[in-house]
Amino acid sequence: MGMRLVLVGAPGSGKGTQAEMLSNYYGVPRVSLGDILRQEVDRGTDPGKIVKEYMERGELVPDKIINELITAKINGEGFILDGYPRNLSQARSLDKLLVSKNRSLDKVIFLKVGLEVVIRRLSGRRVCKNCGALYHLVTMPPQKENICDKCKGELIIRDDDKEETIKRRWEVFLKEVEGLIDFYSQGGRLIEVEANMDKEKVFKKIISLLKEPPESF
Ligand code: AMP
Repeated sequence: MGMRLVLVGAPGSGKGTQAEMLSNYYGVPRVSLGDILRQEVDRGTDPGKIVKEYMERGELVPDKIINELITAKINGEGFILDGYPRNLSQARSLDKLLVSKNRSLDKVIFLKVGLEVVIRRLSGRRVCKNCGALYHLVTMPPQKENICDKCKGELIIRDDDKEETIKRRWEVFLKEVEGLIDFYSQGGRLIEVEANMDKEKVFKKIISLLKEPPESF
């Protein structure tokens, strides 16, 4: 049976990058709520029209829309969830959804970084318009400028990676994270990782912590 993991962290903490690496390592899909929402916006669907305004302001999209979208994407087998849950109410909904499928989460990985790192990472971030692959002008540049290595799609700057919106997203993260972390640490499911390191080091740390045997009581 596949690994079921959640990645929690500020925007720019490396959730997407680590989710991609974990997805390859465990052979289970990465489910990125941000990517799902951006697709809804691009396709101009009804939820997409509502979602767009929230995303542009750096606010969280209402839970009702999020929970409906995620239910369709999670089948209870393995997954690496990136960007969901983002608050306590979403965490509870996810547990309910998994219980209904006789499943549970293996672990929740909290990637810890400070605001300075977030600004540095997001201001150099580029994303493939076509496949969502992530790049950074300095630390993860593409082989050819502005072209995705994987699918040759065009690399763009996300609308919400502007400095004012980054700050708002950071505030939203700070407001919500405590409830989320308390919830998962009480259930003994939380792994905390310092994420201000290069991506391979963070990845190795995550894997080593996931392999540690559970604490005995
Ligand atoms: P991300 O790509 O994970 O940084 O998400 C980009 C934006 O999508 C966020 O700033 C929110 O506006 C929205 N979003 C993503 N995931 C969620 C979620 N779980 N709940 C509410 N809004 C979300």
